[in-house]
Amino acid sequence: MKITGIRIGRLAIPLIKPFKTALRSTDVIATNIIELTAEGPFSGYGEAPPTAAITGETDGSIRGAVETRIASALIGRNAENLNELLDILEHSVVGNSSAKAAVDTALHDLWGKCHGRPLYQLLGGGKKILSTDYTISLNPPEEMARDTLDAVSKGYKALKIKVGSDPRLDMARLSAVRESAGPGILLRVDANQGWNPKEAIRAIKFMEDGGLSVELVEQPVAAWDIEGLKQVTEAVDTPIMADESAHSPRDALRLIASRSADMINIKLMKSGGIRRARAICAMAGAAGMECMIGCMMESKVSVTAAAHLAMAESVISRCDLDAPILCSEDPVAGGAEYSGASITVTDAPGLGIESIKNIAWL
Ligand code: MG
Repeated sequence: MKITGIRIGRLAIPLIKPFKTALRSTDVIATNIIELTAEGPFSGYGEAPPTAAITGETDGSIRGAVETRIASALIGRNAENLNELLDILEHSVVGNSSAKAAVDTALHDLWGKCHGRPLYQLLGGGKKILSTDYTISLNPPEEMARDTLDAVSKGYKALKIKVGSDPRLDMARLSAVRESAGPGILLRVDANQGWNPKEAIRAIKFMEDGGLSVELVEQPVAAWDIEGLKQVTEAVDTPIMADESAHSPRDALRLIASRSADMINIKLMKSGGIRRARAICAMAGAAGMECMIGCMMESKVSVTAAAHLAMAESVISRCDLDAPILCSEDPVAGGAEYSGASITVTDAPGLGIESIKNIAWL
């Protein structure tokens, strides 16, 4: 089954309320949808949001990588030779992890359709119900406390709390959130690189001494500061998770070998797709390390791929796939199914995506 074409379109989905972290604020998911077509006719879908603050990619760079480097390398090749195609994709251009993730996902979707099986099964997984946490955006403490109350009333049992601006204000935020959440709710704290190592150690010790019962702290320091990350990991009892410091499998290898973090947050847009995410899972598994599956501000297209992966990888013990819940509408028919915090996928072939509304094809 030969690949016959690739097209790119833009998709914008308004959020229910602005999403704010120490790095950025947005009120819309603005993303790029990739459709790979093959004889049959079959289509495989993938997605690449331009998360310039994290991967350095923009709409223009994603489009440029796909149109000028990747498309010509794949068109005319057999969609059933997945690993060969993924090798070609990997070597088509340096970097560009989200553009590659979109095409990697579309290739996996097509591969599932070639075999008439859902992707999670082909990856060796069994059907499960995943449970996602829910993000509380970075805002004044009172507003975060209100958002926490609202999330708990909707049944979310694990919350991802965005901090990382002013450390003193962050402590007020966390205290307000814990008070509002009550004792039974799991709190994951994400500083999005907002602290230096000393601030991070002080902040995390404050959480520990104050009985805030935080499950883990994600990316306390700058992405580049692996020594600082290690210093924090060694100085506190709370597990430290690498996010922006861990993009590629090679990044993961360094973090794992140097024991600079206790866990890794895997995102397809950072790893460069499903195959490279599986390479990270394999290394983490060998090191006895657990991982989280996360996402950028993505639509249900690539989040569905992340859910299929999570069903197949036992080292993925935590799930942060709440972007579709934060949207005011869902243009994607088929794919992952959300019910409150629970996510499952269908048994339709590949990703199981039936159609996507409102794409502006370029
Ligand atoms: Mg994070």
